Amino acid sequence: DREEPNYYGAGPALLPTSVLQQAAKDLINFQNIGIGAGEISHRSKAGVSIIDQTKEQLTKLLDIPETHEVFFLQGGGTTGFSSIVANLTASHIKKTGKIGTPYYIIDGTWSKKAYEEAERLGYNPKILVDTKKIDGKFGTIPSIDKWDIPSNLNEISFIYYCDNETVNGVEFRNFPFDKFPNVELVSDMSSNFLSKKVDVSKYGLIFAGAQKNVGIAGISIYIIKKSLLEQANVEELKKLNVPIVPIAFHYPTVVKNDSAYNTIPTFTVHIVNLVLKNLIEKGGLNVQEEENIIKSNMLYDILDKYPNVYKLPVSKDVRSRMNIVFTIKDGSLDNEFLSEAEKKNLSGLKGHRSVGGMRASLYNAVTIKSTKLLCEFIEEFAKTH
Ligand code: PMP
Repeated sequence: DREEPNYYGAGPALLPTSVLQQAAKDLINFQNIGIGAGEISHRSKAGVSIIDQTKEQLTKLLDIPETHEVFFLQGGGTTGFSSIVANLTASHIKKTGKIGTPYYIIDGTWSKKAYEEAERLGYNPKILVDTKKIDGKFGTIPSIDKWDIPSNLNEISFIYYCDNETVNGVEFRNFPFDKFPNVELVSDMSSNFLSKKVDVSKYGLIFAGAQKNVGIAGISIYIIKKSLLEQANVEELKKLNVPIVPIAFHYPTVVKNDSAYNTIPTFTVHIVNLVLKNLIEKGGLNVQEEENIIKSNMLYDILDKYPNVYKLPVSKDVRSRMNIVFTIKDGSLDNEFLSEAEKKNLSGLKGHRSVGGMRASLYNAVTIKSTKLLCEFIEEFAKTH
C-alpha cells in the first residue's frame, strides 16, 4: 500500500494505485494458476489471453476501425521512431515501386530525434516545418502556409509528427489532415496516448511507449493501417539498395505472430491491460479527456495569473494538456521552488535537462485533487516571492 502520491514526473509516470495493487498480486499468482504473470510463457493460454484482451480493450477505447491493427513491441518510443522508417519505406515501395521521401514535422525534441534517426539510417528525410526556425524555441505550431509542402504529394512515403512534445510542452490541437489526401501519416503519441479521443482512421500509424499514460517502461504500442503491412520483399529491397528491416522490428512478422514473434514482456503488457480496464470503468476517453482539460486549464490559469513570477514559453493555442512547461522569471529561485514543493510532498517538477525550468506532467493518473494541491503551492509561492 502507499499514501496517494503527488508526483508530476514526465515518464515513467504515475499509475493508478488500484491498478498497481492488482498488478502486484498478479505478479505473484496470476488468476490462481499458481505462478505470476511474468513467469508464464507468452505462448501459453494465459499469456495469449493477456495480449488479446489488451488489444480488445484498446480497440474498444479508441474505436479502432477494421482497417487498422494493434500490435506491441518490446522497447519504447525510440523503438517506434527508429523502426518506422524502414517498415514504411518498404510499404511505400510495395505500393508505388519507388523509395519515396519521408517528411518530418519537427515540433520539439522528440520529432527532431526521429528526423535525425531517419537521416542516420540513410533515408534522406525532408522537413515539412521546423517550428524552432520560426520562433527560436519550439513554442508554436505555425499555420500550414508556412510549411514547406512538396508540389507532388505522391513522392511522400509518409509524414511523421509528434502529437505531444513531452520536453517542450507543445501539443497539436488540430492536424490539417485534409491538406494531405492519400498520404500516410505517422504520429508519435508516446506522451498523450489515451489522454483524448483520436480518429484512428486518419492515420497510417500511431505509436506510443507505454510508460506515461498506459503502463510501465518496456513495451511500445502500435496501431497500423492494415494495408501498410504489405511490404516489398527482401529481393525487391536489395534491388533498390534499401536496408532490410531487422526481424524483431518487422511489423508484418510481428503482426502475423500476434505480437509474440519473440518473447513479449507479458507482465508489462498485463499492466497496460489493467490500466485500460480501469479507464473503461472510469467512463472511457470522453471522461478522461474532460478531466485532462479541467486539470490543465486549472494549472495554466494559475501560472498565467502571476506573469511577474512565472513565464510560459508555449503559445496558448498549442499548450500541452499533459506536460505543462514553465520557468520562474527569477531563475535563481528554481532550487527554492523545487525544495519547497518537495517539503509539501509535490515531486517530479524539474524541467527536462535540455531546457531547464519546470515541467508538471498531468497524465491520466494525476487526479484533480493532486492538481489542485500543485496549484495552491504555485499560488502561494508566487505570493511570497
Ligand atoms: N517520444 C516521446 C514523445 C517521448 O516523450 C519519449 C520519451 N520521453 C520518447 C519518444 C522516447 O521514448 P523511450 O525513452 O521510451 O525510447
